[in-house]
Amino acid sequence: QCFDSYTQSRIEELEQLQTQLQLTNQELTRLIRASQENMSKLTHELKTPLTSIIGYADFFIRQQQKPDTKDTELQLESIKRVLRNGRFLLRLINDTAQLQQGDGHIKLNMELIDPKVLVRSVREIVEPLARTKGLDLRVDCDRAPQQVQTDALRLQQILTNLLSNAIRYTEKGFVELAVETHQDHRWSLVISDSGIGIDQSAQDRIFEPYFQVCRSSTSDAEQGTGLGLAVVAQLVELMQGKILVTSKLDHGSTFTVTFPIEPTISNA
Ligand code: ADP
Repeated sequence: QCFDSYTQSRIEELEQLQTQLQLTNQELTRLIRASQENMSKLTHELKTPLTSIIGYADFFIRQQQKPDTKDTELQLESIKRVLRNGRFLLRLINDTAQLQQGDGHIKLNMELIDPKVLVRSVREIVEPLARTKGLDLRVDCDRAPQQVQTDALRLQQILTNLLSNAIRYTEKGFVELAVETHQDHRWSLVISDSGIGIDQSAQDRIFEPYFQVCRSSTSDAEQGTGLGLAVVAQLVELMQGKILVTSKLDHGSTFTVTFPIEPTISNA
């Protein structure tokens, strides 16, 4: 009987191990599939600006080879497009590299900071963008915590990304940033705009790499890469935060990022 109960417990252990292995296997398959999907999305994204660069460069050379009927205006325009598409490609590659780095491990440099100081410097970065579009950029730090434990550079990246999106996707009205303190040792950055809004069906997908609700047909320096929110979501998670979006089409959007005031992240 003693042997029986020993065998029984061994069998149970083995069964548990088998279940764990199956789970790990499923997780691995999911990860491989996700990375294959991202790779094919990236390949697709690279094709458009590259095709454009090759097309305009080719056009430029053929213009150059014409004996006398050179249209210098047209040549200049084609070279400008080569440049714009080249810059866009570089942005795409840089953002993708950052996203991949995050899959390994981004090292965080946690320190105690006054969020108001960080908000001030981000405001300086985005204010010219808002001014060019005639938008009312409001900042409300009245309920901000005195100090928070965070990685200042990463937080600046998150905030700049969300605010510049809010400005880019708003044609008139306002963009507002509010910093709030909660009872449960958490604090939030709330970024609202009176912009184009995001359709309910797209709200779950905007954090996926390369997802864009609609894109313009030409690739130029202004065009987004569809990676900004994926990078933001990754950084927020890394810093033990949560990001939420609420939005109404043609009315505007609100992105809320909530962090613990003292996250349990070490600098090692
Ligand atoms: P992109 O480079 O295209 O802006 P993001 O990852 O930053 O990429 O955003 C993904 C998509 O989410 C955008 O293409 C846009 O359609 C939508 N989006 C993001 N922020 C806003 C906003 N504040 N208002 C409306 N749409 C937004």
